[in-house]
Amino acid sequence: MATTEYKPTISAKIPRPIYAKKPHGKLLKYRHWFGYSLLAIFIAMPFIKVNGEQFLLFNILDRKFVIFGTVFWPQDMHIFVFGMLVFMVFIVLFTVVYGRVWCGWACPQTIFMELIFRKIEYWIEGDANQQRKLNNGPNTSNKIAKKTLKHFIFLSISFLISNLFLSYVIGVDQLYKIITDPVTQHLGGLVSIIIFTLMFYGVFAYVREIVCTTICPYGRLQGVLLDDQSLVVAYNYQRGEPRSHIKKKEEQPVETGDCIDCNLCVQVCPTGIDIRDGLQLECVNCTACIDACDDVMEKINRPPKLIGFYSSKQIEENTNEKNNARILAYSIVLALLLVVFGWLIFSRTTVGGTLLRAKGTSYQMNADGTVSNLYNLELINKSGNELPFKLESLDKNFKIKLVNSREVLAKDETAQFSFFLIADSKNIKDYKTNLKIIVVSEEKTLETLKTTFISPPTD
Ligand code: SF4
Ligand code: SF4
Repeated sequence: MATTEYKPTISAKIPRPIYAKKPHGKLLKYRHWFGYSLLAIFIAMPFIKVNGEQFLLFNILDRKFVIFGTVFWPQDMHIFVFGMLVFMVFIVLFTVVYGRVWCGWACPQTIFMELIFRKIEYWIEGDANQQRKLNNGPNTSNKIAKKTLKHFIFLSISFLISNLFLSYVIGVDQLYKIITDPVTQHLGGLVSIIIFTLMFYGVFAYVREIVCTTICPYGRLQGVLLDDQSLVVAYNYQRGEPRSHIKKKEEQPVETGDCIDCNLCVQVCPTGIDIRDGLQLECVNCTACIDACDDVMEKINRPPKLIGFYSSKQIEENTNEKNNARILAYSIVLALLLVVFGWLIFSRTTVGGTLLRAKGTSYQMNADGTVSNLYNLELINKSGNELPFKLESLDKNFKIKLVNSREVLAKDETAQFSFFLIADSKNIKDYKTNLKIIVVSEEKTLETLKTTFISPPTD
């Protein structure tokens, strides 16, 4: 077993541009399955409709958010904010336990970069060494042709991603209109598509891993989220050090670690770091170095996972034990939050309403001995369908008379009404009576609104 003189550092000097060697291995196959499945879901989702609504929509411009086909109106903002909070807690807890696995396996930036753009680059320009040679070589017709083809494909895919992105923001129907209507009718939409296309092209053709290592705030948060029990891609220095190039058996130092300093783990790294330098913010946990090192270990007849998913504590104490109590506690917290979120969604009313007495009015005495109050009501149809409705007072002494008769709320409509509450003055004892008005549809009470009724003081 190696000595523990090895001292991990938390930063790395990265030479740019990075020419990552084409990765191979078992984990890469899992990443392919996982990443391409996520990609398929990501592409399909804007086309899935539930009750006529897009499955997911984040229309910031119109302040309309749809999650799992459920529309969240400004009145439901508390549920939306709570949902975002649950999502953030999930990310934080997940990171504390499993490190940056999201970045390497599920983040759209990594999926597009590693599973699409970099694959195209390998296909056109070859593996890392050929890319380096091509870039450093003279501008031959072969180089120009390869570069032109690559950037044309990059731009085309960026255009598709831009459309996909906009379908989540403005909705797939609106996007279809922008594409099919005459250009002059949607100049703003066209400009957005061009801007986003150029932005994605810039990110995937030039900025690349800098998004993960420098720009992404989640990446920068790793320093505070991770602790010595978080599982991260790590090099088992206890086993690997002191490293030495493989030599003939008789020349081998007596006490060497398993690392043969072949540098393959560095060559495959898309962020250009050496995982043997310890935990680094630049590591996106893509696991390419695990695959590369496992290959080497197999060839030299040593056990795999010299690089693997370890916590610093596991490596330091040379153990495989995990802190299951902590994982369980975090999972319970998360499950509770999800239950509350589910309850908020399912107990959400399909009609939202605001009821106010008409400004500047109090009560009107009528010739037939009744007293009336005038109210303004705003109703929002959140059901996603046309909705027949009627208003009723729970106190049967009060009758409702709409100023303009209305029986149906259109889909997604926000309607404003005025109505009178009328009662026989003999039946009212107090100056101020508390009342409940219900919105009923097909014999079901959808919303209950509170108000007060004012009548002349009784002697
Ligand atoms: S791939 Fe494995 S053996 Fe080769 S340098 Fe990296 S850690 Fe050492
Ligand atoms: S160090 Fe390994 S896991 Fe981390 S980014 Fe590089 S190749 Fe991926």
